Amino acid sequence: MIQITMPLNFLGTVYREIRQALVDMGQMFGLLGQPAEVVDRPGAKPLAVKGGEIVFDDVRFAYDAARPILKGISLRVGPGQKVALVGPSGSGKSTIGRLLFRFYDVTGGAVRIDGQDLREVQQTSLHAAIGVVPQDTVLFNDTVYYNIAYGRDGATEAEVQAAARAARIHDFILSLPEGYQTTVGERGLKLSGGEKQRVGIARTLLKNPPILILDEATSALDTQTERSIQESLAEMGQGRSVITIAHRLSTIADADCIVVLEEGRVTEQGTHDELLALDGKYAAMWARQSADEEDISASPPPAFAG
Ligand code: ADP
Ligand code: MG
Repeated sequence: MIQITMPLNFLGTVYREIRQALVDMGQMFGLLGQPAEVVDRPGAKPLAVKGGEIVFDDVRFAYDAARPILKGISLRVGPGQKVALVGPSGSGKSTIGRLLFRFYDVTGGAVRIDGQDLREVQQTSLHAAIGVVPQDTVLFNDTVYYNIAYGRDGATEAEVQAAARAARIHDFILSLPEGYQTTVGERGLKLSGGEKQRVGIARTLLKNPPILILDEATSALDTQTERSIQESLAEMGQGRSVITIAHRLSTIADADCIVVLEEGRVTEQGTHDELLALDGKYAAMWARQSADEEDISASPPPAFAG
């Protein structure tokens, strides 16, 4: 537990780091309360999700006024479409995810879901509409059952198990000493990276959001585990609008649209084939990755896309 003697600025650092990591947002709000800087407007209405269209319209954003991070980002995720963000580390990919969740308000332009400016809607409804699978799923020191059921208040046991089956973790859970009642997390049974991601997927499936953000969801995994988790993520994406922040380009080659970010700007945008034909930044990244994938089995995934 946190000791009361802990300096407040340290808590501030911890808080920022947690926010930074784009951890499961539901958890974060549950544990820490909402960020102070974003509040519902008086009379804000619940977000009404129709198809789940996401629009970034000339979005500008800075964490510190002195240093612009997003410099006029325009992109669209059509209802049910898969859009991938790629680009070097620090180019602003995770920031786009944070703005969609309205961790911060934009400083210029607008973010809209099905035509509704995020600043006009109730945050609880916004957060209910978006599922986030981060790089590392954070587990509570509680049962594996609790860790999945957290995805939705009032879920039944049958629903929890159905989500676990769909995430292909049910059989593994049954093999644990106490099945669904096994304690996991730092003070319980340590799960592997792939197992944790499957628990996170089951949790998100239970939440059943129309919009998904996958922020380098498989980048901490070895190649083989990544492949098998990738299938589950693809299945989870069916019928939802998905923004994938990609680490390895091979995982997003079939996206409806790939957006290349550099220093807070969109520099290329199109399908995999269109971007290869363009023979620009994406094509260069692709060539570099393909060359390195030839000896993939021996080494951990390289960090091309940040
Ligand atoms: P990416 O996900 O593409 O690696 P990020 O969106 O995380 O990039 O970060 C974009 C830029 O914003 C980076 O230069 C980063 O240092 C900066 N940044 C990210 N979070 C914060 C923050 N909380 N405060 C100040 N600067 C930040
Ligand atoms: Mg990032």
